[in-house]
Amino acid sequence: MRTKSYFLTFILTGLFLCSNGQTKYQPQDTEFYTPKIRTVSTSGNQAPSDAIVLFDGSDLSWWCSVIDSTKKAYWQIENGILQVKPGTGNIRTKENFEDFQLYIEWKSPEVIKGEGQGRGNSGIFLQGHYEIQILDNYNNPTYVNGQAGSLYKQQPPLVTAVKKPGEWHSYNILYTAPRYNSDGIRIRKGSVTVIHNDVVVHYNTEIAGTTEYIGMPQVVVHGAGPIVLQDHGDLIQFRNIWLRKL
Ligand code: MG
Repeated sequence: MRTKSYFLTFILTGLFLCSNGQTKYQPQDTEFYTPKIRTVSTSGNQAPSDAIVLFDGSDLSWWCSVIDSTKKAYWQIENGILQVKPGTGNIRTKENFEDFQLYIEWKSPEVIKGEGQGRGNSGIFLQGHYEIQILDNYNNPTYVNGQAGSLYKQQPPLVTAVKKPGEWHSYNILYTAPRYNSDGIRIRKGSVTVIHNDVVVHYNTEIAGTTEYIGMPQVVVHGAGPIVLQDHGDLIQFRNIWLRKL
């Protein structure tokens, strides 16, 4: 009886494999060697070899004023560090981008001034429309969807990864732009993953629309757009800004 049962199992397994279609394949049937994968090299905290270095500490040649794109960005550079010059307005990249990986380091002032949204506030606008908040949140509560790492007034970060004022933060931002059809109808929302100080704080967060200070997110039709850094009147500093097109 036992032999008969083994035989039956063997037959049934064979039938299953045949019906599953797997037995007709060899391992190499699902292995491919083209296209050749491009090599990107990295070294320490240097930008990857295929990155566009938007700020390396020397100049703002990649940037201009948002108010007037024919004018240069007036923010200050000292000892390789870029600092907001309050009152001069937001700055933007001269070039526009679609999907990208953006790396940026920022620091809020050691001298604490103001509270809530008035302390160490800046931001990074993706394609000029969608703000990832920069804020000194250390012992400084505010509305959670406006704290550091939030998609401003839409989604708070998954966790809080803030450091003390005067310490450098890093944002690694993976951004997928919204898509529109030929009638100007949005057919896919944009989305963003944000890694704040090596901690994931957004994981494929859908972007409902523009990040408004007052009112609901707006759906605007747009193509490629700039990276915009916000002048909110606070002395936020930046360094090591680079971007890889995806
Ligand atoms: Mg802001």
